[in-house]
Amino acid sequence: MNIGEIGEFGLIEKLTKDIALKNPTTVKGVGDDAAVIAAHMEETLVSTDMLLEGVHFDLTYTPLKHLGCKAAMVNFSDIYAMNGYPRQMLVAIGISKRFTVEQVEEIYEGMRFACDLHGVDLVGGDTTASLTGLTICITVVGACEPDKVVYRSGAKPADLICVSGNLGAAYMGLLLLEREKQVFEAGGKSPQLEGHDYIVGRFLKPEARKDIVDSLREAEIVPTSMIDISDGLSSEVLHLCKQSNVGARLFLDKIPVARDTNRMAEELNMNPMTAAFNGGEDYELLFTIPLPLHDKVKDLGKVDIIGHIVEPGQGAYIIPPDGEPIKLQAQGFVHGK
Ligand code: ADP
Ligand code: MG
Repeated sequence: MNIGEIGEFGLIEKLTKDIALKNPTTVKGVGDDAAVIAAHMEETLVSTDMLLEGVHFDLTYTPLKHLGCKAAMVNFSDIYAMNGYPRQMLVAIGISKRFTVEQVEEIYEGMRFACDLHGVDLVGGDTTASLTGLTICITVVGACEPDKVVYRSGAKPADLICVSGNLGAAYMGLLLLEREKQVFEAGGKSPQLEGHDYIVGRFLKPEARKDIVDSLREAEIVPTSMIDISDGLSSEVLHLCKQSNVGARLFLDKIPVARDTNRMAEELNMNPMTAAFNGGEDYELLFTIPLPLHDKVKDLGKVDIIGHIVEPGQGAYIIPPDGEPIKLQAQGFVHGK
């Protein structure tokens, strides 16, 4: 169906009909001039992220449903990185004429899936026509008890540096998708992704780590600092160091990398640590805890301790098992390129 047939209001109605509200703090969702959110006694966390076609995503290998889901997930991840929970979300979307109603609905299906998984209410947004590509801008509202909000700025010397999951897989997935796209566009064979489900999935379907925030709460651990890994480990560790005014030591042989990531790196003749340190889009959580909590965090069973914080002025270095320390450099992940 052509969007022109039902118009902007028809489209909004289609996209937002029968949204069931899940949170007691959602007083009013879609349908008025503004959504209404009750604050209660918690801190309100607000974050926004914009995704541009051709810059942040490539529709030749990104299914629309995955795109919608990922757009929501990366926003939830920012709220989890504050040790809070996402509750409401607003979606501003710019759509060019080449999209059909069904395609936009697919994007929303993905967003709804993410919202259901994370208990988030879609409470509003904006819809406009775009002259060029697709734009999705999501704003998420979250909540956290005042004494549990975790900033980037709280890391202290001797704190342990912890990371959830594994790193570099999403970047290897992206490299594979890009390679197969180029082969295909050059008139070669159709994309060969078999056997690479894990890394492709990590890129196309990242999962925001709500489970880590749950586990930390259960174990009564409040990290001293936290950030989500969207631009690669190097850049995020340097953010923590800068904002906490401390240095860091990371042990190269402690960096968690999945078997499939190593396998793809070998196939592409590159060092998997490049993907872990300078790749992006892992959406794992990087956080610091006081040294005495070592055993408690180990007992969580899903977090690796990869290093520790040192005094300011001592810089940030990677320590290889043998050889000289390597100065940590922020390459900053350039999304999609
Ligand atoms: P306004 O003229 O006040 O901007 P709109 O017609 O744009 O109102 O929006 C009407 C309602 O639909 C509002 O509650 C708005 O938040 C919601 N809305 C508009 N576009 C979207 C969208 N893409 N996704 C979700 N909700 C939307
Ligand atoms: Mg509007």
